[in-house]
Amino acid sequence: MSPVRTNSKIEAEYRSRTRRSAELYARAGKVIPAGLTHDSRTLLPYPLYAARAAGPRKWDVDGNEYVDYFGGHGALLLGHRHPKVLEAVQEQVPLGTHWGSAHELEVRWAELVNRLIPCADRVRFTASGTEASHLAMRLARAFTGKPKVIRFRGHFHGWHDGVTAGAMSHFEGGVPSGIPAALVEQTILLPTDDISHVVQAFAARSDIAAVLIEPSGASWGQVPLATGFLAKLHDITRSQGAVLVFDEVITGFRWSRGGAQQRYAVTPDLCVLAKIVAGGLPGGAVAGRADIMDRLDAAAAKAAGYEKVGHQGTFNANPLSAAAAVATLSIVETEDVCAKAERTAADIRDGLSQILVEEQVPWGVYGEASAFLLFQNPGKLDIDPAAFDPIKLGFAALKGARNPNLAYRLRVAMLANGVDFMGAPGGLVSATHGPGEVDQTLTAFRTAVRWLKAEGDI
Ligand code: PMP
Repeated sequence: MSPVRTNSKIEAEYRSRTRRSAELYARAGKVIPAGLTHDSRTLLPYPLYAARAAGPRKWDVDGNEYVDYFGGHGALLLGHRHPKVLEAVQEQVPLGTHWGSAHELEVRWAELVNRLIPCADRVRFTASGTEASHLAMRLARAFTGKPKVIRFRGHFHGWHDGVTAGAMSHFEGGVPSGIPAALVEQTILLPTDDISHVVQAFAARSDIAAVLIEPSGASWGQVPLATGFLAKLHDITRSQGAVLVFDEVITGFRWSRGGAQQRYAVTPDLCVLAKIVAGGLPGGAVAGRADIMDRLDAAAAKAAGYEKVGHQGTFNANPLSAAAAVATLSIVETEDVCAKAERTAADIRDGLSQILVEEQVPWGVYGEASAFLLFQNPGKLDIDPAAFDPIKLGFAALKGARNPNLAYRLRVAMLANGVDFMGAPGGLVSATHGPGEVDQTLTAFRTAVRWLKAEGDI
């Protein structure tokens, strides 16, 4: 099924509302590969071009208003331009945007992370989540003196060469374009359907440095983990002397103020942070046990007789990001923002499922904390939306068989009704979304599924 249809009313409606986006996309295609700067921003027939945003809403270059569920790819728990975050950044700009020096804000930022995140004895800042996952793997390998890392099928840890295979494609272990096979071999890619795969991997070999996992399950819970999986991983890694790394780039400060590790009461050795940790500006971090993190400390390394782990980065703890981060994490620490976003997401999940039942659509709604996800049932399975249980479906149905074209069609129908869903499809809810946004989203969704039914997508 092609998502681009000449006779589609949905597409005609989208095109008629978004003429300037179409023009910009045509220009972009001449200078930017695919006209896009991030694979996940792909949308057919063309993506939306944003012009401004506030709280839970954003506006495109044609002046249309949307309820926004992209939330800066999940970075904006406090919504767009929260007044305190804005003020902190505005105060920082005239003082300098890059000092190339240590500074007070980075100390305050680190203190906040260490107070909020259970595993954090120490924290080191990076410029992105990708860099942070790269650094965490380097630390784990240095600490254990072993090369291999267990990762899980469909779990995303950024786009560096060490974590690309099996994350968004090549789920059966193939070598993605541009990645050396020798690097792919450094990863042991396992399914999460049964902990026995991990047990067997450790039984079969003694060269495993770390286990790296999205504690929500792949792609912020698109493929949820069975209850108890993380606790078992904790026990196995502890008994084997391997480093347990939670990738909390999405879940950090969202699944709870102390991340997924606090929500599930399983403390990893290291965690990878980005998005909310930098207050909606660029940034990331690795946090964790002092004895592992101190591999970055020249004096500690010398005293203990090992070689220090190298780590540079021009924009690490950049003052603008640090200012936004301190403002954001101070609010996370003192206000109930995670719980508020979670309550709104629960209302959205309930409302979406109700609509599926009423409109007799065999899809499923699920998700945890302040996330919601839609299973669009590309394989036409027998699904009862009133009793949808993603755990029963597993990876192959939930992520392996995902049809991006179906997701584009729903997203375009939602955009034509004033709502911007993320690509899964689904969304990440902020603490500024409220009953008005929920109502608007549900009304848009009912219209969108009726339109999709009329055009034969459902
Ligand atoms: N890990 C996870 C779980 C992510 O969701 C992302 C980004 N979506 C990353 C790592 C990479 O972070 P960044 O885009 O900041 O490099």
